[in-house]
Amino acid sequence: MAIQNREGYIESLRRQKPKVFMAGERVENIADNAMFRGGINSVAVAYDAVNDPKYKDLATANSPLTKQVISRWNHIVENEQDAIAKVKLLRAMGNYLVPCSYRCITADILNTAWFISYEIDKKYNTSYHQRVVGAIRDVQMKDSVVGGALVDPKGDRSLRPSKQVDPDMYLHIVERRSDGIVVRGAKAHSTAAPYTNMLFVMPVSRPLSDDEKDYAVGFFTPVDTEGITFICRPPAIPLEPKELEEPYSSRFAGHVEAMVIFDDVFIPWERVFMAGENEFTGPMMDAFASFHMMSKCGCRPASIDLAIGATALIADYNGTEMASHIRECLTDMIMTAEITYSCGLAAAVQGVRHDSGVYIPKGMPGYTGKVFAAKKLGEDRYFMQEVSGALVATMASEKDYRNPETGKYLEKYYKGREGVPTEHRMRAFKLIEDLTASPYAGWYHGMAITGGGTPQALRMGVLVDYDLEESKRKAKIAAGIG
Ligand SMILES: Cc1cc2nc3c(=O)[nH]c(=O)nc-3n(C[C@H](O)[C@H](O)[C@H](O)COP(=O)(O)OP(=O)(O)OC[C@H]3O[C@@H](n4cnc5c(N)ncnc54)[C@H](O)[C@@H]3O)c2cc1C
Repeated sequence: MAIQNREGYIESLRRQKPKVFMAGERVENIADNAMFRGGINSVAVAYDAVNDPKYKDLATANSPLTKQVISRWNHIVENEQDAIAKVKLLRAMGNYLVPCSYRCITADILNTAWFISYEIDKKYNTSYHQRVVGAIRDVQMKDSVVGGALVDPKGDRSLRPSKQVDPDMYLHIVERRSDGIVVRGAKAHSTAAPYTNMLFVMPVSRPLSDDEKDYAVGFFTPVDTEGITFICRPPAIPLEPKELEEPYSSRFAGHVEAMVIFDDVFIPWERVFMAGENEFTGPMMDAFASFHMMSKCGCRPASIDLAIGATALIADYNGTEMASHIRECLTDMIMTAEITYSCGLAAAVQGVRHDSGVYIPKGMPGYTGKVFAAKKLGEDRYFMQEVSGALVATMASEKDYRNPETGKYLEKYYKGREGVPTEHRMRAFKLIEDLTASPYAGWYHGMAITGGGTPQALRMGVLVDYDLEESKRKAKIAAGIG
């Protein structure tokens, strides 16, 4: 069963018993809970793509581990073609309309663990890599969803993990036993975590020093492991079915965010791939960022494609599509999508093959594209509102439109260009409102800016990768200095 479908995935969630809380209540059955509907559907579309003949070539790969055709989301990237296929797949996922299928995390975290466990073994003669390989083989065979639990609560940001007043502000080992380790702490923002099958936990919040070895801990564990609790934020979508309002977020979005508590959780050695090797946390962060920012440069243009379509549609319905400034707004949005996508492809083609067999994308283009697209999201929304006009913020509710007493006026005065039914124009406006001015739009903005890493961390990565001295040398020659 190397390729699963959406039903199999949802069934797998029913078999799990994670300890989940949301809005003050324990949630026993997330698979059938309305709060989790949008998030679970977002993940499930990735299974739809793998089973869809239209996307099969992009969405599957041959696994050297299992000798089977597997989902690309579980694949270890072997070469440039694999990396390119992943970026293309992420953009193609836009055809399913979900803003985030979340499966890129599975791929990005498995590839990172593959690389770092190999590196640690090389130095310390440990046997981490075989454990990771075993876990990945299992994920590939079962076609599981892996959740990324990476970023710690971090307390006072000016203090290192070992200097925090509360030592649990960064997840750490509290006991080493002959059969495994016990860990305590939390991971603060794990998207979708309760509806994954397994968590891969890694320290990526900051590089660690020699007195912080207990914080250098990486492992994988089922979501319903004893001692793990998920405290969830409700999704930023309407929970009741919507017909005309919030047409996008009520049907296609809705990830749940979770703080994952590790209250003295026992992890057997077979599931540990880092336990004290602090000098590897920096390279681990870099590798994860390289994989994940390349992914972001695939999914962000997919969302921009929808934003461009919505903007062109409302211009069409308003009768302004051919106005020069409207064409300019659309063109700028298209350029943002294409530059971001190009950064993803550049990261894919400039990668390097590591001794372990994994192909690691180049960091700088992916970091650049991610920060660029995040900054441009505000500009895109500016264009979307500029092109649409005030009704994005002032349009009456669906209930008034359906009420015969008021609906006849709205039918008359919300009319745009001849030939376009009023309701179509209203739907287009409600889509723009959903994409730019709804609770969902706010969540998405946060994900675009900070999700995956702070802009500053990525800027620093760009500066490190860029040869500034060489550019200064050229400038000196050009200026006739020295
Ligand atoms: C929607 C969303 C989904 C996410 N999903 C996941 C997920 O699935 N898994 C996961 O592990 N994480 C996830 N994250 C977390 C994300 O990776 C983090 O938000 C990000 O790494 C930044 O961490 P932070 O939020 O603690 O911000 P901080 O690190 O507190 O940064 C806030 C600001 O303070 C600055 N700052 C921080 N420390 C210092 C310092 N020492 N000196 C000077 N300036 C400093 C930063 O540069 C930044 O400007 C998600 C985030 C979002 C928004």
